[in-house]
Amino acid sequence: MRVGIVGAGIGGLALAQGLAKAGVDVRLYERDPSAQHRKQGYRIHISPVGEQALAATLPDAVRRRVIETATHPGDLLAGFDGQLNPMFEQVFPGGGPETVSAVDRYAFRRALMTGLDDVLAFGKQFESYAADADGVEIRFADGSSESVDVLIGADGVGSGVRAQLLPDFEAVDIGVRCIYGKVPLTPAVRAAVPEAFMRGFCFVTDGRGASAAFAPVLFRTPPEEYGDYLMAVLTATSDVLGCADDELFALSPAELWKIVSRLSSSWHPAVRELIATAEVDAAFPITLRTCIRVAEWPVSRVALLGDAVHPMTPAAGAGANTALWDAARLTKALTDGTPLLEALASYQQDMVPHGQAAVTESLENAKRMFEVEV
Ligand SMILES: Cc1cc2nc3c(=O)[nH]c(=O)nc-3n(C[C@H](O)[C@H](O)[C@H](O)COP(=O)(O)OP(=O)(O)OC[C@H]3O[C@@H](n4cnc5c(N)ncnc54)[C@H](O)[C@@H]3O)c2cc1C
Repeated sequence: MRVGIVGAGIGGLALAQGLAKAGVDVRLYERDPSAQHRKQGYRIHISPVGEQALAATLPDAVRRRVIETATHPGDLLAGFDGQLNPMFEQVFPGGGPETVSAVDRYAFRRALMTGLDDVLAFGKQFESYAADADGVEIRFADGSSESVDVLIGADGVGSGVRAQLLPDFEAVDIGVRCIYGKVPLTPAVRAAVPEAFMRGFCFVTDGRGASAAFAPVLFRTPPEEYGDYLMAVLTATSDVLGCADDELFALSPAELWKIVSRLSSSWHPAVRELIATAEVDAAFPITLRTCIRVAEWPVSRVALLGDAVHPMTPAAGAGANTALWDAARLTKALTDGTPLLEALASYQQDMVPHGQAAVTESLENAKRMFEVEV
């Protein structure tokens, strides 16, 4: 059996690892020209669900690489007002030297690519597929095509595979935009940063529609390209940001960061100081989307995983973990000897309620945190 996966994001890479480990002939097609291609985001929380999925899918050497390149576990989730007065605090066990509870997205994807040189093809933008009872032809924007027995769409929230499989599926814009950035942890920043910000995930909310989250990435082993940093992400509606999408998505990183500085200008001096020392070029904007119901489809040789089938807001830190869970469940389905269509049906039967629970929790959290109606 040959499996073709479109999208070398978190879910697609984990699935490719799981299938390759089981000896399945697998091909992974990614539209980016290289692993280093774009700003892809910064810190990702890995929950026990994600950790178990990694343990179930990854070969030992790859899992070791993930552990080595993860960040030191934090032990705090806390909220503050704009003047850093505490609003809530939750302390939890920090985990041991093998715990993976947070990763840097780029370092994580690089670790998940370990050993996939013959499996992963960059510069392969999916365009369409043609499926029948015998197999699937995948067509790419460069005019090439590949024949596989099963096609898995792991191509994220804007999935082209989903657009063809489920043309009526809607990823809903919740009306919230993020300006994502990072603050390099130089000795001067480390000396000045509020202690809580170095212990885990901290929210600052000013009560006027803008909020920010800060969380440390303290590498066990940093990537070659950069070192420890504090993730800094500002969240607000377009009205609060003061610019519509056509303007926001055309702004330079420096102009984006000016918005962050403006909206936090009355916050506690320690926060303003952090924002002033950010790596300005690292800033980029994101639209937050969700689905309302995870879609189901007539079982065929085409299936979906991760954000392609259940886009969700980041407000529960669950999207990547759910994509990893999907990858582990689908690896099991495709490798335990169950006939193909039965295996894909059983995957879908389990994935839909599991994904729906994460979507609903993420949406409820987002409504509360960002005060939006969806
Ligand atoms: C601000 C923010 C913070 C987040 N924090 C967390 C967190 O802490 N924990 C958590 O669990 N989740 C978090 N998430 C959610 C998480 O990032 C996603 O749920 C996760 O990346 C989904 O993985 P995926 O593999 O389904 O898709 P993706 O990681 O989006 O990967 C999709 C891949 O498909 C490729 N692709 C797209 N189109 C094509 C095409 N036509 N042809 C070929 N390739 C294509 C893309 O280039 C990409 O590499 C966060 C999200 C945001 C926006």
